[in-house]
Amino acid sequence: MPETNENNAPLDFIREIVANDLRNNKNDGKVVTRFPPEPNGYLHIGHAKAICLDFGVAAENGGVCHLRFDDTNPTKEDTEYVESIINDVKWLGFDFGEHLYYASDYFERMYECAVTLIRKGLAYVCDLSPEQWEEYRGTLNVPGKESPGRARSVEENLDLFTRMRNGEFEDGAMVLRARIDMASPNIHMRDPVIYRIRRVHHFRHGDKWCVYPMYDFAHPLEDAFEGVTHSFCTLEFEIHRPLYDWVLQALEFKNPPVQTEFSRLNLTYTVMSKRKLLQLVKEHYVAGWDDPRMPTICGMRRRGIPASAIRKLCRTVGITKFEALTDIALLEHCVREELNATAPRFLAVLDPLKVTITNYPAEGVEPLDAVNNPEDPAAGSRKLPFGRELYIEKSDFMLEPVKGYFRLAPGREVRLRYGYFIKCEEAVLDEAGNVVELKCTFDPATRGGSAPDGRKVKGTIHWVSADSAVPAEVRLYERLFTVEQPGADGTNFLEQLNPDSIRIVKALVEPKLAELPAGTSVQFERNGYYCVDPDSKPGAPVFSRTVTLKDSWGNKQGK
Ligand code: ATP
Ligand code: MG
Repeated sequence: MPETNENNAPLDFIREIVANDLRNNKNDGKVVTRFPPEPNGYLHIGHAKAICLDFGVAAENGGVCHLRFDDTNPTKEDTEYVESIINDVKWLGFDFGEHLYYASDYFERMYECAVTLIRKGLAYVCDLSPEQWEEYRGTLNVPGKESPGRARSVEENLDLFTRMRNGEFEDGAMVLRARIDMASPNIHMRDPVIYRIRRVHHFRHGDKWCVYPMYDFAHPLEDAFEGVTHSFCTLEFEIHRPLYDWVLQALEFKNPPVQTEFSRLNLTYTVMSKRKLLQLVKEHYVAGWDDPRMPTICGMRRRGIPASAIRKLCRTVGITKFEALTDIALLEHCVREELNATAPRFLAVLDPLKVTITNYPAEGVEPLDAVNNPEDPAAGSRKLPFGRELYIEKSDFMLEPVKGYFRLAPGREVRLRYGYFIKCEEAVLDEAGNVVELKCTFDPATRGGSAPDGRKVKGTIHWVSADSAVPAEVRLYERLFTVEQPGADGTNFLEQLNPDSIRIVKALVEPKLAELPAGTSVQFERNGYYCVDPDSKPGAPVFSRTVTLKDSWGNKQGK
């Protein structure tokens, strides 16, 4: 475990910065952070890392974290995304209280800030053609050239900018640029565009605006307007920070917010780009944003991954400045740790083989006691109906057992979980030689799982009784991609989709499993963790596999 601070949060360089600011009573000891998603897609597990940091740092320091929709680029934005994002942030366990904001609500103030820059001689209207733009921009090694617009008077700039807003010019005919330094080695400082003309419909403000602020101008203003003290973002914005600071300084904000960058979360076997996720949905490679194979928060929720496991992953990965690729096995490990403690156990047979207990009365039904969760005594117990006809897993029987196989075989005895010892007397084969049924006997003295004469059995297998079992659809999910870094070697990521990422089986499950509400996480004993899917109907449950029981993370760590 990483070192933790007095709030039991892991110590990282960002938390150290915040602690230091507090020691110096910077911002009068206030901590205000924000999570600023663009409402152009669903949140994914990468966003969860940012959410855990933004909300975590605020909560640990008695501060607040704002949820702010960065809706300044209206072409791809939509209320569908707004709603899902609000829902997902709450589900992850974070509270923004009344601090829900929309960047677009600041458009008027942003416009005024642009006017202030013009008045200060720090912004000008530029009407270079696209071809000229190329020519004037320069390259990494060659300084750019000054646009003729730079020579415009304040009055002319004010007039043109007003007319841009009033819709007198075509889209793209001119832009407003900050007047900084065309020779700067940082391209973002070479008189960046801060406003452009775009006749696009905004999902909240309709056609009110035809000029829109650029991200690099809008973002520092949004932070400053809201009194944000610490603005955390991912590493790709490091090179934009000089511009962030320039905007706030040029507009003379007191106690301006400070931007600090950290590295993104990347997971093996996962794509995290919104564009690629959208493509998977739109082109029906998955069933939707909440397909349980998706790395979206709603997909993970549907798959049965608890919010606590996502938070645990983020905490374990920590906050650094190093680009890293996190093994998805670590997420699966966190999921198992959480579900092991909380998920009740049930018996489910995924690939049923009929068993008849020949010495058990035909009409007999016997409720056996089954423990709901050995990890949680408070979870209690339930009754499991036992009878003459049962189903066991096909793989729990071998006609000719190999060495080291301790389950059922002709003449062998095993323990039925929560039940009796049974012995296989005969395997019934069909014409093709497949085992279709087992005739077994049970030993009434072994009720509860042990023999009074002290004889031992090596295998314990799960089962359901034929009378009581409920047919269920079980969706067995595997990783969505076959390679660790889809698309990384220049291959189209779609060619690396795993064709076996979903397999559907018809299972038989114990009756209690058919009574659980959608979203309930359970363990199928000896098999894995599953979640009741919303596609379930009364008497016809559907389960999604969250993870198998086998933990590859511990092995990899040499534990
Ligand atoms: P876009 O390319 O559309 O900007 P984005 O992934 O940056 O995609 P935003 O909605 O802008 O999406 O992200 C909101 C916040 O989440 C940003 O502060 C961003 O830095 C952070 N974030 C996005 N992806 C990750 C990731 N993989 N790891 C950590 N933080 C992330
Ligand atoms: Mg972004």
